[in-house]
Amino acid sequence: MSLNVEKSKQMLLESQKYLAGGVASTLRASMKPTPLFVESGSGSRVRDVDGNEYIDYLLAYGPLILGHAHPAMAEAMNEATKRGFTYGLQHDGEIKLAKLLTELLPCADKVALSGSGTEAVMLALRLSRAYTGRTKVVRFHGHFHGWSDAIFTSFPSPDMKQSSSARSSLASAPPGTGGQSENSLQDIIMLPWNDIEAFEALIAKEKDSIAAVITEPIMCNNGCIGPKAGYLERIRELTEQSGIVMIMDEVITGFRLGLGGAHGKLGLKPDLVTIGKALGGGFAISGVAGKADIMALIENGTVGHLGTLNGNFAATSAALAVLRELGKDNGSSYSRMEHLFNRLVAGLRELLNKHGIQGLINQAGPVFHFMFTEEKQVEDFDTFNKRDAAKYSRFAELMLEEGVLVRPSGLWYISTVHTEADIETTIQAADRALAKLAL
Ligand code: PLP
Repeated sequence: MSLNVEKSKQMLLESQKYLAGGVASTLRASMKPTPLFVESGSGSRVRDVDGNEYIDYLLAYGPLILGHAHPAMAEAMNEATKRGFTYGLQHDGEIKLAKLLTELLPCADKVALSGSGTEAVMLALRLSRAYTGRTKVVRFHGHFHGWSDAIFTSFPSPDMKQSSSARSSLASAPPGTGGQSENSLQDIIMLPWNDIEAFEALIAKEKDSIAAVITEPIMCNNGCIGPKAGYLERIRELTEQSGIVMIMDEVITGFRLGLGGAHGKLGLKPDLVTIGKALGGGFAISGVAGKADIMALIENGTVGHLGTLNGNFAATSAALAVLRELGKDNGSSYSRMEHLFNRLVAGLRELLNKHGIQGLINQAGPVFHFMFTEEKQVEDFDTFNKRDAAKYSRFAELMLEEGVLVRPSGLWYISTVHTEADIETTIQAADRALAKLAL
């Protein structure tokens, strides 16, 4: 039985009359059978305007680590309603949040707050260039760091049409969108990730012109691929020796892998870390955290850090509520989320066997990437790109029909309020969806 999403389809047509593209972020247009319009969200569930209810593993592309409309967030918003949402002036919420972040994140002597992950990355790049007096920035294929002209080279699931040799060259990165000047990326150097020889060779040749290296600690956006043993450590070592700022982009992993971020888990101290998504639990807040002498460039006025809504009271209240909840019982919600995902991943792997479908799952605690591929392992971007993305998108559509909302690209998130029953229902749904897919 196909899903009735007629109202969503009608609302898209209505939306398209006024809202460019009918959706507020380009990525959302790709959802099949149609971009869904939501009536409400509660806990682990979301309900669309046609009355269909889904167990939600999209979680707003990551931020909803406490699920929808969590009571602790509602209470924080209540408080904000009494005190006002934003002042363009200072308040205790900023101090409490900044202090807590410096306590939680090992790399953080100081923090700066902004509104989105994209802005946090922009600030981290600016700080790095001002700190080093150099201009080049190294980034990696398959990583995503927001959509600013300064770094955007492709959508999160890109199909990079370059040969491997071109990729490891020092050529400028190609713009990711129409309207982006080629010049905006002339200082970006693209490298393959998890390839320490390529990085060492670059450093040997170019180190004096490189301001920063920016990397996700886990390549979450494209395959949930973890770093090879020693890879990030060697980057840390070489950047430290060469006076290059190491930026870890933890917009996804921050507060999702643990309260100390991925760098806390890995025992690594990058110079700067960017955070966002889960920090706000659905509210627009992000930040840069890092070493005192780099952050001092904001304090002494060398680097401009602006934003009308930066650190607003509603957003800092939301973030404090998120961090309080996640910190309860010594952070036991992390092991709970991981336990639930372990069960789900095991269930999905059994189903792949049962239905004779080739696929695999890369898991990093409370986040995983599910893909259909003939490869036995996916440990780099090239191998990831061999997956059957169209087949997965069809699977995501079949899952919707079964009452489960997953991202069409294959990345799954879980919240603290998902239950064992949600997981079992999801496995049963996947059984039916994979059976149809196998036909
Ligand atoms: N960095 C990473 C690793 C991301 O995954 C994203 C968004 O998905 C961003 C930065 C940009 O964050 P935002 O969408 O909040 O601008």
